[in-house]
Amino acid sequence: MTTIAPGSTIGILGGGQLGRMIAIAAAQLGYRTHIYAPEESGPAADVSRCWTRGAYEDAAALSAFADSVDVVTYEFENIDPAAVEVLSTHGLVRPGAQALRVAQDRLAEKNFVRDLGGLTAPFASVESLDDLERAIATVGNRSILKTNRMGYDGKGQARLNGPADAPAAWDAIGRQSAILEGFVTFEEEFSVILVRGANGEVRFWDSPANVHVDGILSTSTAPGGPRIEAQVQAARALAAQVAEALGYVGVLTLEFFASADGPVFNEMAPRVHNSGHWTIEGAVTSQFENHVRAICGLPLGDTRLAARRVQMHNLIGEEADAWQAILSDPSAHLHLYGKHEARPGRKMGHVTRLTL
Ligand code: AMP
Repeated sequence: MTTIAPGSTIGILGGGQLGRMIAIAAAQLGYRTHIYAPEESGPAADVSRCWTRGAYEDAAALSAFADSVDVVTYEFENIDPAAVEVLSTHGLVRPGAQALRVAQDRLAEKNFVRDLGGLTAPFASVESLDDLERAIATVGNRSILKTNRMGYDGKGQARLNGPADAPAAWDAIGRQSAILEGFVTFEEEFSVILVRGANGEVRFWDSPANVHVDGILSTSTAPGGPRIEAQVQAARALAAQVAEALGYVGVLTLEFFASADGPVFNEMAPRVHNSGHWTIEGAVTSQFENHVRAICGLPLGDTRLAARRVQMHNLIGEEADAWQAILSDPSAHLHLYGKHEARPGRKMGHVTRLTL
């Protein structure tokens, strides 16, 4: 097993807040980080040694980047898997191209999980308005149309209550490749966050209860409570199967609905995840540190809770202006991502509160 020792350089595709928090954890363990992203700068720039500006489709630039670092990881999954395959001929890429291929396409992701025996909402592939009308007939009137690619934080989605809504929904998502999902009646939402080491060892963090507002994560609370705990075992078994089938190394997140029929898989992220930010102070080892440990072939850290209760609250848009009030609460740990402009819906930071 290759060990990438402290002092080495970790390359990160993407320079947002996830890259920033990976870079901070990497620095703590004595690693350097080098970001590759299409933007000129970003939240990770403040805490990384190098930044290369390049397109995710530019295989030559990506290869040169891979040659200049000791291992490559990513904080952003919408990268061309073909480019990542080229990259992996120049160095170690963890997690690999297969995880990207599955996780960046909703249809591929749902089929993959269903083939492993996981429960999903009813879904159908939609490539045209005609397809959408047919899909409503099979999936049900109450449904959500989601673009297959590039959707996040509720973007690229339209809700429907029946065939009359089809034309507007098809226009709203920009008439592109999509899936129609039946609306799931759920009690709560939760995520399984796991880390899989280079030797195949898997560890799980407590599954937090996740509350979304307007399609954006608002809070994650661990422990998740009895209704979620009753479903975690089945959800973890599925998540471990997914990780195994992908030969996954690093942190992997799967989101679920806790329904009367058991855990319904919603989506996965082949990376550290917003619903795991609470682990920075709320777990013995954070998702960021364990991601670094895994991709570098190091032993994994303890994932247990470090408090009786932990709650993470995202600071969206102008909510981050309340930083002074937040800091006056001694149980609050404030994280600001260094973004200059507080646009509505933009994640500016988060605050984690521990109950010891
Ligand atoms: P997503 O981008 O797929 O994570 O969707 C964002 C949020 O919309 C989810 O966290 C849920 O709160 C809600 N949602 C998504 N898909 C469904 C569904 N099939 N049924 C009910 N609610 C959903």
